[in-house]
Amino acid sequence: MVTEGKRNTIARYRKKNPDKIKEIRTRHRIKLKRDAVEAYGGKCRCCSEEQLAFLTIEHGNRDGSAHRELLGKNIRGTNFYAWLRKNGYPDDLGLQVLCANCQFATWSGECPHVTSHLPSLSSQTPE
Ligand SMILES: [Zn+2]
Ligand SMILES: [Zn+2]
Repeated sequence: MVTEGKRNTIARYRKKNPDKIKEIRTRHRIKLKRDAVEAYGGKCRCCSEEQLAFLTIEHGNRDGSAHRELLGKNIRGTNFYAWLRKNGYPDDLGLQVLCANCQFATWSGECPHVTSHLPSLSSQTPE
């Protein structure tokens, strides 16, 4: 009956402190992410953004077999960071840290941070 009582205590604690449980989960998630980002350079590879909230870990080599293997496992988000930690942050997967801006931009080509020396469309004078 001790276990039953204990289980009830935990259930009651969860019910009374939903915010607390959420906070613990969030903190765990942030720590997993921070550790992973640190392991892969700690800042955006392109613009050196260091705000964790903006950073993501991107598969640099999207055609690589390692990438396909990762996709096959269908792990993303926190599970992805947890997986990386479990595997000792492997450096042969072509992973790199990018901020949301640069990641978004590189999906459709080069990031403007890289191509900004080219004349932009808006500054072109009509003929
Ligand atoms: Zn960036
Ligand atoms: Zn960039």
